Amino acid sequence: MALEEAPNAVALLDAKGGVLWANRAFYTLSDGVCRPDTDFHLTDLLVPIAEPGQPLWAALAKPGGCAFDVETHAHNMSASRLLKLTLGPLVEAIRPAYLRDMSDQRQREEALKRAEGLLEHTAVHDPLTGLPNRRGLLRQLGDLMRRAEDEHRRIGVCLIDIDQFRMLNESRGHEAGDELLIEFSERLRRLSDPDQVLARIGGDLFAVVSPEMTDVGVLDVRARRMRSALAREVALASGRWSPNARMGLAIAEPGETDPATLLMHAEVALADAKGTPDGDVGLFSQAAGQRFADRSRLAEELCRGIDEGQFAAHFQPQIRLEDGRLAGFEALVRWHHPERGILEPCYFLEAAEQLGLESTIDALMIDLALDALLEMRDAGHDVPRISINFSARSMRDPERVDLLAFAVEKRGLQPSDVVVEVLESTMIVDATDPAASNIDRLARSGFRVELDDFGTGYAALSNVARLNIHALKIDRSLVQLMLGHQVSAVVVSAIIALAKQIGISVIAEGIEDVAEVRELSRLGCDLGQGYWFSRPLPLNLALTYLARHQRSSESGRPHRLAG
Ligand code: C2E
Ligand code: CA
Ligand code: CA
Repeated sequence: MALEEAPNAVALLDAKGGVLWANRAFYTLSDGVCRPDTDFHLTDLLVPIAEPGQPLWAALAKPGGCAFDVETHAHNMSASRLLKLTLGPLVEAIRPAYLRDMSDQRQREEALKRAEGLLEHTAVHDPLTGLPNRRGLLRQLGDLMRRAEDEHRRIGVCLIDIDQFRMLNESRGHEAGDELLIEFSERLRRLSDPDQVLARIGGDLFAVVSPEMTDVGVLDVRARRMRSALAREVALASGRWSPNARMGLAIAEPGETDPATLLMHAEVALADAKGTPDGDVGLFSQAAGQRFADRSRLAEELCRGIDEGQFAAHFQPQIRLEDGRLAGFEALVRWHHPERGILEPCYFLEAAEQLGLESTIDALMIDLALDALLEMRDAGHDVPRISINFSARSMRDPERVDLLAFAVEKRGLQPSDVVVEVLESTMIVDATDPAASNIDRLARSGFRVELDDFGTGYAALSNVARLNIHALKIDRSLVQLMLGHQVSAVVVSAIIALAKQIGISVIAEGIEDVAEVRELSRLGCDLGQGYWFSRPLPLNLALTYLARHQRSSESGRPHRLAG
């Protein structure tokens, strides 16, 4: 029987909640405990997760049997969490399925049939939000498109992706993620018209189908209106969160009847919006399709590039503004692309992030940077430190701290030889954020931690004082505007003053001319980095730079300090 082999767990209970029959998935879910011949009660299994008095418990404790449905090992979570998640929205559906007289064969068969209906429902719905899932949407879309063809109508699809959802999940935990998804689905229900079809077709990916779309302009206007309504702040148990949605739009002309192609077009449009820094709503076009194909190729090449060791580090010196001495180098990743030459991170880092490869690149860079530091010192140069950039993802991975500590120790280096640069936009949420505890661990192990791109808006100043940070790195956009733009000048001097007050140092990046050096020194900035001193250099040129820098320091003319 199909139920026996179904991937979902199904059981029939007698009047006291004892298990009369259960399918294979159910046995597995209960670790083999729950068998018809062992006098086992389903409530025994559920009591630990549902206290008496709660709606779930009450539904199950009713006399009679019930069939229920749990997606088993497809999700990577515990059985009890799965039960909690899945049973919530299903409690209503369960009630009609319980049996009055289990000895009656016919009733038993009917109950099984109803249970199969339930399974059918969950096969096309998302248990968390109750919305149709991808399969359900494709099915409905197919019907709509066939009807639209007869009636010469267009159909519009709007895909909605929640920006930074992974970050929320990783920093505040899956409960917060689930809470946001449920709130999002409720907002969508309120914001949509009755004839529109809603679905959740992926982790943080929702779809709104408009069966009567007159033209692209209308779809776009509606999407933007929905987008701003979705952006309202959400009060989660773990604190507030302002969701930002990105959207991809596609339209099927009458006669286009393949739902999968329509969804794919909307996905391409969404990827196109995400591929531009401020892209919020993307529209499918042939050009967007081409860009998508380019990006897919890039993804393949990135994976190959990592396997084949095409990544290298370049090194940019950091200079003490007080006396022009070298404070260290920042290691910056470069991709030696077999056809396109040496690529800077702006050409691949975002794609790497979307593929989850950025922490692999960070790990590569740890080895490259530490090896280079050894090589510079072996050549007789005094290089106090090397700085390494950590992505938001690396910063939340506790193993990354161990990996760094191991890499340092293995080479006979000291933690104080290494600076970890953390982006201000890593957005430390609160003390429970794993990024905060990792910063703390790094600092306690003796590493220096610097807050990169500081002043671009994210970090609350209270974070700076509370976290174990050794320096602020003023973002280059501020440094470059500082001399001609009153507001930037005020911000830069305020950052320096703040750092002095809490006793940490400041480094200015993106210094391109000597007037900036003078002004920053006057304000009390400790270190400087930028093209004025040197561009990032491959290791051999960094060694040449070191030799020259050392000679000019010895001759009492600090390299490029005062022009
Ligand atoms: P960042 O950490 O702020 O690095 C400084 C960037 O500013 C570098 O760009 C550098 O080449 C550039 N720069 C330095 N001096 C000047 C100047 O005087 N004028 C101007 N206009 N630019 C200057 P790059 O190497 O392209 O790196 C861009 C960003 O990519 C970095 O910004 C960093 O956020 C990220 N990145 C680089 N390497 C890594 C890495 O190994 N891991 C991670 N996670 N991110 C990296
Ligand atoms: Ca940096
Ligand atoms: Ca920076």
